Amino acid sequence: MNVRARFSAVFLLFLAFGCTSKLRAAQASSPASPSAQQAVSQGTNHETPPASREITAYTLPPALYTKSHNLEKLELSLFIIAPLYGLVVLLLVLRWKLGTKYRVLAERFSSHLILQCVVFAPLLLLTIDLMSLPVDIFEHGEARRYNLSVQGWASWAWDWTKSELLYFLLAIFIIAILYAVIRRSPRRSWLYFWLALVPIGIFLVFLQPLAVDPLFHKFEPLFAKDPNLVASLETMVQRAGENIPPQRMFWMNASEKVTELNAYVTGIGLSKRIVVWDTTIAKMTTPEIVAVVGHEMGHYVLHHVPKGMALAAVFSFVLFYIGYWIVRWAVNRWGAACAIRDVGDLASLPILAIVIGALIFLVTPVTNAISRHFEHQADQYALEVTHGLTPHSAQVAAQTFQVLGEVDLEYPDPGRFDVIMTYDHPPIRDRVRFCLTYNPWANGGTGEFVH
Ligand SMILES: [Zn+2]
Repeated sequence: MNVRARFSAVFLLFLAFGCTSKLRAAQASSPASPSAQQAVSQGTNHETPPASREITAYTLPPALYTKSHNLEKLELSLFIIAPLYGLVVLLLVLRWKLGTKYRVLAERFSSHLILQCVVFAPLLLLTIDLMSLPVDIFEHGEARRYNLSVQGWASWAWDWTKSELLYFLLAIFIIAILYAVIRRSPRRSWLYFWLALVPIGIFLVFLQPLAVDPLFHKFEPLFAKDPNLVASLETMVQRAGENIPPQRMFWMNASEKVTELNAYVTGIGLSKRIVVWDTTIAKMTTPEIVAVVGHEMGHYVLHHVPKGMALAAVFSFVLFYIGYWIVRWAVNRWGAACAIRDVGDLASLPILAIVIGALIFLVTPVTNAISRHFEHQADQYALEVTHGLTPHSAQVAAQTFQVLGEVDLEYPDPGRFDVIMTYDHPPIRDRVRFCLTYNPWANGGTGEFVH
């Protein structure tokens, strides 16, 4: 379970594009990779030469292939079932008039909207999340069964609690703003809410690495953990003619919770940073880690976080407008049956959540396609920045994906539908093929991003 996934539907758009650009190819909900013992036993063995086997395509041995195929089917099923389950929960909340009951309590508590939200938002969201808990528990259970997660249930429950508290805090303000604009200016509410949300979204992306992520994982400057690695990375940064100060590179203690490999770019402005998971450092050689960080550097240098946020702002503008009309229609049609007074009634929130949630689900193929484009650009950047720096750089990059795929159980043969609906990164098969065929230098040419 991931705190990012919990920040209400409205923020999903920002978060889908904004916060992190993971190296990994699957959904955020299913953590990590095979045996933790393996991670431990291999230790920080950077100087190991690249795997002796020459990579010509991404393949898995039969046992892992079957396992990865089962995981792929599970993830695809969850992609459909989890939102449907969420829809049923919201419909039950409406049928049982829980929103209305909580609004009555909130109005008894205070006549001020913000204070009403202090009562209403946590009650409603906790109800919804407790009803949704079986899905979260099932997902974490499966992640443990596949050895992707090593996080115990107590630690998992504590993370769940912390993310709920953060979520309530944020939701109180967001819901208060939403209903304040609906009540003051019903017709333009979608626009004013959007105007309020854009700066809040930007602020949250700024805040995430400073205030949110440290609640769930330990971070340390990478140069304190691994000065030799940082020296290798600095060579690459100079080769690219870029300026990424070492204090913007962080080590993250992922291994206490997951076994998967990852690195990502997050934050904006002063909080902008590259984060490398300790699992990645443990399982890869130095040239391979340099290739991984080259990819993240691509996101950093090509400004994918702010570009993603700008796209999210455009998407949410359109979705809010469409959502506004659908919500109005739905409240007029069913509001009375659910004891909802009008759109400005706090009790209408479940209807709003259904509409925005459904719209976001429908645009998933588009947001995934954009994300895959950014990821492909970052892959290309990594190949260009390591070319001439790392011996056999294309082969090293291909080996990086092989290791990543084996550890994270990436299925080698995803179908078109799977990719369109659930892949925010290109399939590893395609990434390996690109590594082995991309060669702008063949006839004296140069890279597109790094000359
Ligand atoms: Zn990436």
